[in-house]
Amino acid sequence: MRIAVLKERAAGETRVSATPETVKKFIALGAVVAVEAGAGEAASIADVDYAAAGAEVTANPATGADIVLGVQGPDPAALAGVNPGAWVVAGLDPFGQRARVDGYAAAGLEALAMEFMPRITRAQSMDILSSQSNLSGYKAVIEAANVYGRAFPMMMTAAGTVSAAKAFIMGVGVAGLQAIATARRLGAQVSATDVRSATREQIQSLGAKPIFVESVAGIEGEGAGGYATEMSEEYQKAQAELVSSHIAKQDIVITTALIPGRAAPRLITDAQIATMKPGSVIFDLAAPAGGNVEGSKPDEVVVKHGVKIIGYANTPAKLPADASALFSRNLYNFLSAFWDKEAGRPVLDEEIGNAIRLTHGGKVVNERLLG
Ligand code: NAD
Repeated sequence: MRIAVLKERAAGETRVSATPETVKKFIALGAVVAVEAGAGEAASIADVDYAAAGAEVTANPATGADIVLGVQGPDPAALAGVNPGAWVVAGLDPFGQRARVDGYAAAGLEALAMEFMPRITRAQSMDILSSQSNLSGYKAVIEAANVYGRAFPMMMTAAGTVSAAKAFIMGVGVAGLQAIATARRLGAQVSATDVRSATREQIQSLGAKPIFVESVAGIEGEGAGGYATEMSEEYQKAQAELVSSHIAKQDIVITTALIPGRAAPRLITDAQIATMKPGSVIFDLAAPAGGNVEGSKPDEVVVKHGVKIIGYANTPAKLPADASALFSRNLYNFLSAFWDKEAGRPVLDEEIGNAIRLTHGGKVVNERLLG
């Protein structure tokens, strides 16, 4: 079983899909690991560290590979030389990169999209969306604090008092929870909102104030698989009114709302931004998915009505070392959980296999792409 670790080619991608730690663990399972020269450089991992862990460091890792690991999906053309039916295991952006998925099918590869991992207890340690969102939620607050022209905590000094920043977190999934915790640690007064009712208690347990639409029912409990769906027009209207009355008093807003397979919901309009105080900062974590905030542009600082609107195209890539370590462990936890000692390779079960398998036998086979 030969596992290839590719150097990421996408612009701005700094992460790597295996670390010396996971290389060692794959070798302990009986695999040979080939790492592309320079693959870990942007994540501060040198080729010699991979070699010391037992990897073959090479210019052509894909040659003869049975499994190819990536953070993002590699170009099918870069996979010439892999064994027939080789697995491609990465964050494949199946909806956004449909042509590439078709390319994997045409090449006879078995593409496994890690972002389609079901949200079931036994798959938690394999969930790249969670591991990366957690870091993104942290980074969003740090970046917003950096751009904000004032301090977060209240300070009583001889020269007078500095008041605490007011931070509002919209969308309380994995990223939002970490954003609440980080903003609280920095000393902000934090409030938060979501459409899923289960988040109310989670917000309170982190010492923040829940701000919820009361007049129209949101999503009961956790929502299907922990995910939100598009809300009714009536709900959207009530939410817009609630946000309008709350946002004008906020200094920092972090938006994290996503709906799988769809554009991100619009949560803040330009008219609402106009009511905010000049100098306020909005970090739109959904910027690469179309944005929660009107006017936000990935990797740009947009100033509207004196409010700075920021957001990255790839937030976890701003924390390459930690993001790579967690991503790599997700991949290892996944492959090792299914490792069949006799076969000397991973063999997937139906529940997880069918959820994440995009292509097989020359065809696109995933229900979410066919449906
Ligand atoms: P996500 O990234 O899909 O969305 C972020 C948040 O935005 C969600 O909380 C969602 O409800 C919210 N949102 C969507 N539309 C909104 C709107 N119009 N207004 C306000 N908020 C809106 O979600 P996520 O962070 O990936 O996780 C969501 C849930 O799934 C969490 O409760 C998490 O604990 C759970 N989860 C479970 C597992 C597991 O069991 N394996 C793994 C990951 C996450």
